[in-house]
This record gives sequence, C-alpha cells and structure tokens, in this order.
Amino acid sequence: MITTDFTDKVAFITGAGVGIGRATALAFAEAGADVALVSIDEDDLNETARLVPDTGRRAHPIVADVSDASAVQAAVSSTADEFGRIDFAVNNAGIEQPPTPLDETGQDDWNRLIAVNLTGVFLAMKHEIPAMRESGGGAIVNLSSGAGVVGISGQAAYAATKHGVIGMTKSAALEVAAEGIRINAICPGIIETPMMGRFSGGTPEGRARVIAQEPVGRMGRPEEIASAALWLCSDLGGFAVSHALVVDGGQTVGIS
Ligand code: NAD
Repeated sequence: MITTDFTDKVAFITGAGVGIGRATALAFAEAGADVALVSIDEDDLNETARLVPDTGRRAHPIVADVSDASAVQAAVSSTADEFGRIDFAVNNAGIEQPPTPLDETGQDDWNRLIAVNLTGVFLAMKHEIPAMRESGGGAIVNLSSGAGVVGISGQAAYAATKHGVIGMTKSAALEVAAEGIRINAICPGIIETPMMGRFSGGTPEGRARVIAQEPVGRMGRPEEIASAALWLCSDLGGFAVSHALVVDGGQTVGIS
C-alpha cells in the first residue's frame, strides 16, 4: 500500500534548528520517524529536540558544521549507532547571501557560501549514501532554491551554490537509483523563516518587497516545504528520481 507512514524509519535532517529544517524534522516525526537533528547552533537544536517527543518519536541532536568533513562523517555514523539505520536525509542547512553584485562580493563570502551550501550537501550525501545502502535503500532530498533555476540579481554566489545543488542531485541520483536510493531536490520560493527575516530586513517595507515577488501574494510557510520533502521521501513519491521540485508560489514561473 502506498503510504507516508514512517514508523520504524530514521530521518537525518541538517539545519534542523529553525525554519524549514525544524518544520521538516517535526513533519517526519509526526509521520513516525525517529529524527537525527544537525545544526551549528546548539540552542536552536535543543529547542527542536524538545518539540520532537510531543510526536511520540525520538530525537538525536548533533551539533555540527556541515562544511566540516569529519563532523559530518561523525554525525552520520552517530545516527546509525543511535537508531540502527538511516532511511531518509534532508540536506537543508544553508546560508544566505546579503544582496551584493558579483564584482563587490568578497572571496571570503564566496568561499563560505560554497562551503556550507554546496560542500555541505556533498559531504552529507557522501556519508548518507553508504549508510542507506546498509539500510537497504532510502531517499535523500537536497534544498536548492528558486535561485537554483533562475538568475537573481545580487545573488550570483548564492545562485551558483543552488544551481550546483541541482547538478549534484541529478548526477548522484543516477548513480544510486538502481540500489533503491532516490535523490531529489526542492526549490522553495520565499519562505517565512529566520533566513528570510534577515534577507528582507524584517521591516514592513522589506517584507512587502519580497512578497511582491510572489504571485500568490504571501510568503510560503516552512511546513509547505516540509510536506514536499515528506512526499518525495515517502512511497507517494516512489517514482520521483533526479527531480528538482519547484515549490515557490509561482515566483520563478514568469512575469505576473
Ligand atoms: P534558516 O537560516 O532560517 O535556518 C537554517 C538552519 O541551518 C539553522 O538551523 C542554522 O543554524 C543551520 N545552519 C546554518 N549553517 C549551518 C552549518 N554550516 N552547519 C549546520 N547547520 C547550519 O534557513 P531556512 O530559510 O530555513 O532555509 C533552509 C534551506 O532552504 C537553506 O538551504 C536555504 O538556502 C533554502 N531556501 C530557503 C528559502 C527561504 O525563503 N527561506 C528559499 C529558498 C531556499
């Protein structure tokens, strides 16, 4: 039977402290999965972990920087040690680029965006794939962006990382599809999270400016991205492979 019942499954979610990552962790736990929560910020992580038991599931919080190779390897292996398996991964940790033209973007900023948004996804998949093989298959969702499918002025470095996530997703997916591991990406539009608060400045004018990009006339909710990740990982998305799913309120479709 086709189901979103994740009972006895284990999900590994990066950037799980706030925003889309926290909503995804809670959605997977609501669906029955035990959840490994990875974030660089311990306080946020502990708050997400505190909310998980309300779903009846277990949380395994791990403080780690996804750009640190040994920390990511240790996070994946401690999840397998704690829960005995890994079935799903949502590689969501990411950082934004304050609007800056490319010729004014510092190389340190470029390097950090690449390290977290691109190398972080590479390192996570590098260790998740063998763990999923051990578990007999699985599903991975990587967070790209609308900036992964269109160019955005002032976002060249961020867009480079998010286009890169899609190329990496599509290629890795082909390598492991025959082993029962499905890899896909999600490209969210403007989602109301701490990241979007920083990006918009959080002022009424800043919020209006980003909402103006959305044909639906509002920001998306983190739960509306979490549900897409849940669908992609569940049997409902069982034939989705190597796909970049745009969930953006129409933001990137055209001129409205
Ligand atoms: P957010 O900043 O609100 O939350 C990001 C989480 O990742 C936090 O818990 C943070 O502590 C953690 N994190 C940051 N750097 C980390 C690192 N190096 N190692 C481990 N954890 C780290 O972000 P969000 O808005 O929830 O975005 C989540 C993902 O979705 C990101 O990849 C982002 O680029 C992408 N995205 C967001 C939007 C949006 O509108 N919010 C749109 C498109 C794509």
